[in-house]
Amino acid sequence: MIRTRFAPSPTGYLHIGGVRTALYSWLYAKKQGGEFTLRIEDTDLERSTEESVNAILEGMSWLGLDYDHGPIYQTHRFERYKEVIQQLFDKGLAYYCYATPEELDAMREAQKAAGEKPRYDGSYRDFSGEPPTGIDPVIRFKNPLDGDVVIDDLVKGQVIINNKELDDLIIARPDGTPTYNFTVVVDDWDMGMTHVIRGDDHLNNTPRQINLYKAIGAEVPKFAHIPMVLGEDGSRLSKRHGAVSVLQYKEEGFLPEALLNYLVRLGWSYGDQEVFSMDEMVKYFDLNSVNSSPSTFDTAKLTWINEQHIKTAPAEHLATHLSSFVAQLGCDLSQGPELSEVANILRDRAKTLVEMAQGAIYFYNDFEAFEAGAAKKHLRPAAEEALTLVLEKLEALSEWKAEAIHNVINATAEALEVGMGKVGMPLRVAITGGGQSPAIDATAELIGQDRCIKRLKMALEFIEKRKEAQ
Ligand code: GLU
Repeated sequence: MIRTRFAPSPTGYLHIGGVRTALYSWLYAKKQGGEFTLRIEDTDLERSTEESVNAILEGMSWLGLDYDHGPIYQTHRFERYKEVIQQLFDKGLAYYCYATPEELDAMREAQKAAGEKPRYDGSYRDFSGEPPTGIDPVIRFKNPLDGDVVIDDLVKGQVIINNKELDDLIIARPDGTPTYNFTVVVDDWDMGMTHVIRGDDHLNNTPRQINLYKAIGAEVPKFAHIPMVLGEDGSRLSKRHGAVSVLQYKEEGFLPEALLNYLVRLGWSYGDQEVFSMDEMVKYFDLNSVNSSPSTFDTAKLTWINEQHIKTAPAEHLATHLSSFVAQLGCDLSQGPELSEVANILRDRAKTLVEMAQGAIYFYNDFEAFEAGAAKKHLRPAAEEALTLVLEKLEALSEWKAEAIHNVINATAEALEVGMGKVGMPLRVAITGGGQSPAIDATAELIGQDRCIKRLKMALEFIEKRKEAQ
């Protein structure tokens, strides 16, 4: 059974780059009928916050990245880590190190001065004397002294590190709390991880972790290190490039599957296909086709992908995601048509749900004034005759359907011997308040007969006043 995990540290917002590794792990497990775990790596008590944990959980839930196990909190597993540290002591593979920060600094300076790579010199590794008093020691792992560590990375290819390059890793801090490189290994072992898919900022930790797996008698999982996401200036994507928190994309009106579609393509390809449904992502995703060099985040492309998903998403799904935006604009959804129907006619005109919500307002809320430009152009005295006739015919309609409304517009234009636009445009401004809307007959149907009649009367009053003012 394939088992993967996403293991964020809750020290900030859920970063879009993190979401991409989460997605790759999730897809890889789904594709193979495996299991996906969410693990919260919160052992850094100073930097971890509950707010950040909540942002991770909310982000995962909004994205629909469901997990078979978790969330598992590392802070709930301290007893287990202690147990494994004890096992390492029992095997003679761990030791207390009493070197003070000052001594370590001095060591580093001396090594640098001698042109050597700074590393812990192992002075307490085989220490058998009386330990210095008044110092809370750290616990270090006895890294093998020679031989190579070979990583057959599924994205990066083979990476070989000689053990001479690695010093003895700190596995517990002076206060006894275990460190990241240790807990991650114990967890991935206990949770039966077969594949560790994570950002390549962790690649330099991997050889040390492999040595730890071997020391505790665990099977070493396969690794896939995913290159970073860069901003348009080529530096690592960060806040100064714009939104990096996944929840910010939610607020900006992106559909979760569009964001995931964009992220899956960022560093992975399947022929030249750009738009993927979730099912297609699961079906086609493969670690072999993940690019080994970094990718650049491109908001314009994300927006285009969002537009494509808005065009094809099931109407109910669109409505589910749209409703909070519409509500934020002060619309009472009980005072108008089904939101899914409104979403359906607006879907071809919106790049984001924020835009779509803007376009949905007049279906729910009455307006007090017409948009000045549109009114000036289309609600002029010359339109009075068309609006009066169309009002009369619309009032008489017994079946309020787009087709019947269309026929009314047609009949009015014919009767007055004018083009359809001479009737349609004033009608549009009258019932929507502005000059932009989807097809006017379908729009009118959804706005409803009473509202349309009321708004047409308001438009005629507007024209009346305009005549008086002339
Ligand atoms: N907790 C680590 C981080 O947030 C990830 C560890 C891992 O995936 O192995 O960067």
